[in-house]
Amino acid sequence: MQSFDVIVLGGGIAGVSTARHLQQRGKNVALVDVRDPGQETSYGNAGIIEASFVLPFGFPAPRRFKDILLDKDASARVDLVFLPRMLKWLLDFYIQSNAENRSKNGVFMRPLVQDAVAEHQALMKGNDAEKYFCKTGRVKIHRSKASFDGDAFERETLTKLGVPFEVLDPSEFAKIEPNIKPIFYKALKLSSSARVTDPGAVVAGYAQGFIAAGGTFIKGDAATLTQSGGKWEVAGAQAKDVVVALGPWASNLLKPMGYNFPIGLKRGYHQHFKGAAMNHAIVDADIGYVMGGCTKGIRITTGAEFAAQNAPKNPVQISRVLPHARELLDIGEPSEAEAWLGCRPCTTDSLPIVGRAQHHDGLWFNIGHGHSGFTIGPATGKLLAQMMTGEALFTSDAPYRPDRF
Ligand SMILES: Cc1cc2nc3c(=O)[nH]c(=O)nc-3n(C[C@H](O)[C@H](O)[C@H](O)COP(=O)(O)OP(=O)(O)OC[C@H]3O[C@@H](n4cnc5c(N)ncnc54)[C@H](O)[C@@H]3O)c2cc1C
Repeated sequence: MQSFDVIVLGGGIAGVSTARHLQQRGKNVALVDVRDPGQETSYGNAGIIEASFVLPFGFPAPRRFKDILLDKDASARVDLVFLPRMLKWLLDFYIQSNAENRSKNGVFMRPLVQDAVAEHQALMKGNDAEKYFCKTGRVKIHRSKASFDGDAFERETLTKLGVPFEVLDPSEFAKIEPNIKPIFYKALKLSSSARVTDPGAVVAGYAQGFIAAGGTFIKGDAATLTQSGGKWEVAGAQAKDVVVALGPWASNLLKPMGYNFPIGLKRGYHQHFKGAAMNHAIVDADIGYVMGGCTKGIRITTGAEFAAQNAPKNPVQISRVLPHARELLDIGEPSEAEAWLGCRPCTTDSLPIVGRAQHHDGLWFNIGHGHSGFTIGPATGKLLAQMMTGEALFTSDAPYRPDRF
């Protein structure tokens, strides 16, 4: 049995960032994952570092919700057999979706997102991750005036919080994104966001930095975690402290231990296409998907699917968005036969769960990163490392505390 100060379970963006920040504060850390780092949710996302985030996603408007239930919508899908198991989560999410709660939760997210680009750049130094970084971030496209006007609340919130943005006509947008066809009404350019062209490789790069600085990576299964004599043991490693950063798998370990967090899984797909180049990650707001240039081609990522975590793939949302994506860009043919599927681990208030467990000594959480986990992973990793080492916190942990539910 090898002894460490801390074991971190999960090698996604949350776990790798936590491990690196603990290491930078003098801790001897073992990072444990069943796979290599950055192979799951942190691999398949849209790669946006969303420093311009001001409002979490809300419950869909009644007409859209009806279409979702009737399985006619591209932005979201519900497996009706699974729906009863999601009802409590959906009700709590609905309550958190009114304008007041969304604004409040958006403000609580700001300390985690506002410096997200700098937090990523700090972890990129000296490893392979840096070559995937692009300064150009997210642009939201509205296809009609009605859609643009309907989104005024986001622009008002951006203005109120001092987050920079530009509203561009198709002709102005063509100067920075020449391959996108001018079939839309306005583009909202969020200038403080950035993106990466291979999020999985970026997380692998951060893990490479952790290992090069003396950190230990162990292939092992978190399900074998035990506690005895004041130490946690897993995969041949032992430590006084253990961090759970298992993303969408966290509840499998934590529920039997008595922690029943409201983490709903929103499944999402991506597929790559061989088509024309693009410089930004484009959110097609009216249809509900994201399209951006990646190392494997144009990556199209879909919105939410509510279905059991292990249910077979149903990439119907990809087929539904494709005709719309082709209106905007010559995306060409798919460069892979099958779509990738992953799960966003979403809390009802859209805030992550970061901090000390209530009922077990030496147990810590960094989970529930939802739609924005790639963005905030470095910041939540830093915050948790500061808590665990007694350092002054860069922001209050109150909004993210595990005992808030
Ligand atoms: C389609 C899609 C698009 C997205 N786009 C964006 C975006 O553009 N920007 C953004 O900020 N966020 C985005 N997200 C959200 C983001 O990807 C997630 O919030 C984030 O990756 C979660 O990171 P994580 O480290 O918590 O989980 P993960 O990356 O899933 O890491 C969990 C790790 O735990 C490991 N594990 C599982 N079970 C065990 C076990 N039993 N033992 C040991 N290890 C185990 C897994 O192998 C995995 O490596 C998107 C998500 C999806 C699905």
